[in-house]
Amino acid sequence: MTRHIACLSFDFDAWSGLTARGLTTPTPVSRGEFCAVAVPRILKLLERHAIPSTFFIPGIVIETYPELTRQIHDAGHEVGNHGWTHFPPSTLDPADEERDLLRSSDLIETITGRRPTGYRSASFDLSPVTAQLLEKHGFLYESSMMGHDHSPYYIRIGDKVDPKERLVFGRESDLVELPVSWNLDDFPHFEFLRTPQQLMPGLQWAGGVLENWVDDFRYMHQTEQWGALIFTFHPYVIGRGHRMIMLEKLINALEGMGAIWQTMEATALEFKGRSRR
Ligand SMILES: [Zn+2]
Repeated sequence: MTRHIACLSFDFDAWSGLTARGLTTPTPVSRGEFCAVAVPRILKLLERHAIPSTFFIPGIVIETYPELTRQIHDAGHEVGNHGWTHFPPSTLDPADEERDLLRSSDLIETITGRRPTGYRSASFDLSPVTAQLLEKHGFLYESSMMGHDHSPYYIRIGDKVDPKERLVFGRESDLVELPVSWNLDDFPHFEFLRTPQQLMPGLQWAGGVLENWVDDFRYMHQTEQWGALIFTFHPYVIGRGHRMIMLEKLINALEGMGAIWQTMEATALEFKGRSRR
C-alpha cells in the first residue's frame, strides 16, 4: 500500500540551546522565551489541520514550563525525551548521560502519565554510547542521525570508527532510527547566531526554504511506495509571523500530495510492523 508520511517534530528547547552555548545574558534568554508565545500558536495551527505531532523537550525546559508541556500532551501530541539539558551527549560522560536520560523520562512520565518511547539528542550529536543506553532502557526509536532521507532504518551498535581505517560495522539493533537532516531543520536556515566560536547567518527567504521542503516530499512521493519525511522545527524559530504562514503553506502543499500526518512513535511502530521483526 502506498503511504507517504510526514512527521512534524518540534524541539521545544526555549533558551536551553543558547545557554548551553554560553549565551546566558538577558537577550538570548528572552529569544528562547519566545517559545512560550510560539507554542500556543503552533498548537492552534496543528489543531486546525488535525495533525498529531511530536515535541522533544529537555528536562530543564519542562521544569520551567510544566503547564505548556501539559497542554502539548493534552492536545494529543507525543512528548519525547530530549535529554535533561541541551549539552550534546557527545560532550557528556556516559554516567551523566544515563542519569540525565532517566531523569528526563521520569519527569515526562509525571506530566503525561507515560514514559517516552522516543529520543532526540541535543544538536543531533549522539555520544558513542547513546544507542546502547536507549536499547538498555527500552526505547523504541531515536531521531538524530542522517543515514537516509526518508526511510527509517535499524541503528547499528558498536561500529569501530578510526579516521585512518575502514569502517567496521557493529551489530544491527532493534532500535529504529527516524532520520533527520539539517536541510529539513528550520534552525540553520533561519537563525542568526553569533557565538565566540561561530557565526551562522541564517535569515533566509522562507519561500525558497518552502520550495526545498515541498520538493523533498515530492521526491519521496515519486520514488517510494512507503516513506516518512521527518521535519525538525523549533518553536522560537518557526513561530515568527512569516514562518508560521510558510508552515501552513507547507502543510497545505503536502496535504495536496496526500501526506499522512503521524507522530514519530506511530511511524516507528509502522516501520517495525512492515519489517516484521
Ligand atoms: Zn534541541
